[in-house]
Amino acid sequence: MFTAAAEYGVDVTVDEREVDRLLAVTPVDVDPAPALTFSRNVFIPLTTACRYTCTYCTYYDVPGQATLLSPEEIREQCRIGADAGCTEALFTFGDDPDERYTEIHDQLEAWGHDSIHEYLREACEIALEEGLLPHSNPGDQTREQMETVAPVNASMGVMLETTADVPAHSGGRRKTPGQRLNTIDIAGALGVPFTTGILVGIGEGWRDRAESLLAIRALHERHDHIQEIIVQNVVPNERSDYEKPSVETMRRVVAMARAALPAEISVQVPPNLTPARELLDCGIDDLGGVSPVTEDYINPEYEWPALQELGDTADEAGVPLYERLPTYDRYLPTNLRRDGFDGRLAEPPATRDSWLPDAVLARIEADDVHGERFRRVARRAGPLSLPD
Ligand code: SF4
Repeated sequence: MFTAAAEYGVDVTVDEREVDRLLAVTPVDVDPAPALTFSRNVFIPLTTACRYTCTYCTYYDVPGQATLLSPEEIREQCRIGADAGCTEALFTFGDDPDERYTEIHDQLEAWGHDSIHEYLREACEIALEEGLLPHSNPGDQTREQMETVAPVNASMGVMLETTADVPAHSGGRRKTPGQRLNTIDIAGALGVPFTTGILVGIGEGWRDRAESLLAIRALHERHDHIQEIIVQNVVPNERSDYEKPSVETMRRVVAMARAALPAEISVQVPPNLTPARELLDCGIDDLGGVSPVTEDYINPEYEWPALQELGDTADEAGVPLYERLPTYDRYLPTNLRRDGFDGRLAEPPATRDSWLPDAVLARIEADDVHGERFRRVARRAGPLSLPD
């Protein structure tokens, strides 16, 4: 019996027999998905400051070099994204900039904010005004922090990465699996449609991968709030030389994820980091947020595939490709959901009446060009035609 995160007051228990079952899963044990989805996003790196220093990460900048986008820069990025047909403003972060980042804190104060989460809320409001639906990934969050930003987000996320203690997270400032699980649990308690995932190749073993997936499942069974999990491989970069996991490894991990999770949770691989075409028979059903206008700031050396390439990938799999909103269909109100195209849309979660905050719902239902765009994507009647 594996138990984690007790130090944060979140209790997650994984049955070792289930771990053993997953360790035996191979791609032939899962079914390919009947359709693929993606969302069109604009990537907005609100700040590159981060209290941690994960060894595989090129995203964070050290104090003195970290950036903080201004409200004007955020608005400009959002306008460009909305004009390009994006529906999602993907706000990325490190974790809370700690006290070493005096310049960031001074700047936030000058803009009238006590915390980065207060500023994130303003950034999300700008995105809504400019015609995008915010999806924020601000790292670990306390309940108070998430309560600050959840009312202006269509969905949120944080990568669990792994339940294992790995050297990749070691050092004086390190994130822990307990904190991540706690954040995922808080999201469920607050009714936030949530994205999480595992990072493959940072020193974890096969048993750790299975435990991580089952820990995510346990939290979903508690709250019904996990909309997708990302299975992401580590990539070598300028700060580290982690070996990229082999295709065979990724095929087995993706199959394990599909077998571990209920059908309503989507399994995504980022197509700019992972050879999605070689994983189509392993149960992936989503190709993630794809940006026609911005680079992947977390993995800047790896270009987004063109939208046409996603279409070709779906053709190769012989399945339709659909655009989706950053909130998965299952969490949309009934009047905004299309009639299902696959099993995972079957029933909305019964645990709460509404999963969308009022500000986001009002944005989607607005009688303007952006509202029409959101509703068209949400109610799509047929496969996407590319190019669009
Ligand atoms: S992976 Fe995330 S938490 Fe770790 S250093 Fe990078 S931005 Fe910070």
